[in-house]
Amino acid sequence: MDTSDICPKCGSPLSEVSETPTGKKLQRCSKGYWNKETRKNEGCDFVKWLSAEPQTLDEKCPKCGSPLVLQVTRFGKKMKKCSTGGWDKEAKAATGCDYVEWINGTSEPLDIDCPQCGEKLVLFTTSSGKKMEKCSTAGWDSAKRLATGCTYIRWLKPGEVPTSNAGEEFLPPPPSEE
Ligand SMILES: [Zn+2]
Ligand SMILES: [Zn+2]
Ligand SMILES: [Zn+2]
Repeated sequence: MDTSDICPKCGSPLSEVSETPTGKKLQRCSKGYWNKETRKNEGCDFVKWLSAEPQTLDEKCPKCGSPLVLQVTRFGKKMKKCSTGGWDKEAKAATGCDYVEWINGTSEPLDIDCPQCGEKLVLFTTSSGKKMEKCSTAGWDSAKRLATGCTYIRWLKPGEVPTSNAGEEFLPPPPSEE
């Protein structure tokens, strides 16, 4: 029996693999479900994220001209690497092209108004996968080494999603026939 399909928290079987709108794959515990009324997970909250297949990008490697792929590490760091790059387990050496470009954090616009100034917030994801909401007017004056614009920042707890953008990390499972 394949123990990878057993919930490590409660020993129940995991549900079928489901996919988020952004293509991340996950399996949740069959004893857990999404309560639409309370917008919370009920029952067992174990979710197993399946490692994403590298995604081929529409970008060429600056070293060799092969397509780049986007890879996400186990810790949520993102990098672009050359699709010809690999790892020879026997020789313990990198093979092919060794081009790697780490992505240092991404921000995406949110449809939430800043509680301090009323401008829109953006969701900022650091390279280590931490998320915060910050004001879209915020900036950094590198000459003066001073933050500019609005200073509103709110770190999200692990697993928390911005209020108007819920549905990525804790996407409710498709409604079951009841
Ligand atoms: Zn469970
Ligand atoms: Zn390359
Ligand atoms: Zn603001």
